Amino acid sequence: MDFKLSKKTVMSRGFRMRCPNCNAAPLFRAYLKPVEACTSCAQPWSEVRADDGPAWATMLVVLHVLAPVFHLLVFRTELPGWAPYTILCGLGLGLSLLLLPRFKGLFIGLIWATGAPTS
Ligand SMILES: [Zn+2]
Repeated sequence: MDFKLSKKTVMSRGFRMRCPNCNAAPLFRAYLKPVEACTSCAQPWSEVRADDGPAWATMLVVLHVLAPVFHLLVFRTELPGWAPYTILCGLGLGLSLLLLPRFKGLFIGLIWATGAPTS
């Protein structure tokens, strides 16, 4: 890190799937695969391992969103029996796929900013 960036800044950049160091290039080369090194600032990202943190954070958020929706759809509507579960599965899958790479970027930024061990 050339200069001191706040943890909030690097986490925000990571959540937006941009390089936490320079914010000028994408952080991922595939859905969950970080680039070997930033194409703009050459910061290596492949060695920063987020492990289970992104999946944990994604499930924490998605399940807290789905719980009230489940209650609303199952107990407060007159939908046919299959409909609430179909809606919940679609919503849960969509939110999970949307949030997982963003939380991975957030965790990569946080791990890098704190200097936590990467292996
Ligand atoms: Zn960069």
